[in-house]
Amino acid sequence: MESRPLPTFHSLSQKVGAFSARDKTFLIPQMNRIGCHLLAAVFQAFGVRARVMDTYKGLDLGREFTSGKECFPCQVTTGDILHFLEEEKARLGESFDPEDYIYFMPEAGGPCRFGMYNKFQRIVLDSLPGLENLKIGSLTSDNAYSPVGMIDEDKATDFRKSAFMSVVAADILDRLLWRIRPYERDPGLADALIDEAVTSMSEAFLRHSEKKEFDTILDRLEEIVRRGGEIMDPSIPRKPLIGIVGEIYLRTHTQSNQDMIRVLERYGAEVVNASIAEWVNYTAYDRMREARIGLCRNLRLLRFREIRNYASKIVSYGLDLWYQQSRQDKAYRRLKPIIDLPGDHRVGDLEEVLMQKDLFSFEVGTEACLSIAGIMEYMREGFNGVVNVYPFTCMPSTITSAVVRPIVNRRRLPYLDTPCDGTYQPGREAAIRTFMYQAHQHRDRALQSG
Ligand code: SF4
Repeated sequence: MESRPLPTFHSLSQKVGAFSARDKTFLIPQMNRIGCHLLAAVFQAFGVRARVMDTYKGLDLGREFTSGKECFPCQVTTGDILHFLEEEKARLGESFDPEDYIYFMPEAGGPCRFGMYNKFQRIVLDSLPGLENLKIGSLTSDNAYSPVGMIDEDKATDFRKSAFMSVVAADILDRLLWRIRPYERDPGLADALIDEAVTSMSEAFLRHSEKKEFDTILDRLEEIVRRGGEIMDPSIPRKPLIGIVGEIYLRTHTQSNQDMIRVLERYGAEVVNASIAEWVNYTAYDRMREARIGLCRNLRLLRFREIRNYASKIVSYGLDLWYQQSRQDKAYRRLKPIIDLPGDHRVGDLEEVLMQKDLFSFEVGTEACLSIAGIMEYMREGFNGVVNVYPFTCMPSTITSAVVRPIVNRRRLPYLDTPCDGTYQPGREAAIRTFMYQAHQHRDRALQSG
């Protein structure tokens, strides 16, 4: 692609934000391969022309426009949008107009670089002739991903509820796949079922999410889970249970992590990955926690306006969190009698674990809070090993590794760090094989000790 001199930073505030998606094609990048399609269906149900972009086909472009110091997900997503635009230009020719699109790239506050991806990508797009007119639609964890501005205000609450429901359904389909694939009667049955389920659930969200007919959506999910149970061979004994934590994009994006879960399964694992809903709940929980701190501070200073402001934030984020967790509970509870899918950790419990063991603090923020506490919970629940999946140089995951290594070593729990940067690592498979050997031993020890 031909580039031109860098523009001013003005466009970072004017062309990155919560822009109305009405009458635009809303471009959704793939992170979780199921979730992005269900989310696109929710957008469509609310009248937005949403489209899921191909992924990992533009990695060369992503690398061309980055220096190599950025986080790997930034390279992948930069490549995805540039590749999409190249293809779209070739398909539409003269009628291609970048203003017809909004590229969706949310962000997170705190010390992490994820808050900078969309700004960096803005600079890249501004440097390419014509693409300065393509806006970047962003939601932020600073307000627990409120969609106000992107979706009409009168529909924003319903949209948020439906979008969260799509996250829960995608998590459940992922967990169903990981629960049944290691025990399938014939190779390929589980993958085929989930491929079919993505189409079926997308259609369910398209038809029912605007009216919040979540029970109807759950009926369909229940049917898929029932079929999943039927393809399991009951004569295959339970396998060592491996928990995954780490950076949300890498542990979810199968192309970037070189299909880590499938490789673990090849060496005899049953895997549970941390969910996406956990992160969404964490953002609401953390905003509520910050508001509580603000309230206490202002109560001491008797600043009444601030007291009111913080109290209303506590109520608002508290209600969001309560709603999300009860929706999630309802879905998992309904499916439990059919198949024992693992549930999600409660964010409040995770903070409690960190405080009790004095391991880390939510004050620092980032996914390290969830990963460190998540590993402690996996250990308590009797998992046979933990894998930390993350982009090379990822700050929160490196912290996680430093904090938990001495603990898992003391407890003789197999543990593996798997940094990824898109290159093929010749030692990776040997490391996984060794790790799984240790996990089998851990499981045997646990069975012997009853
Ligand atoms: S979590 Fe890791 S990969 Fe993501 S922005 Fe932060 S440092 Fe980068």
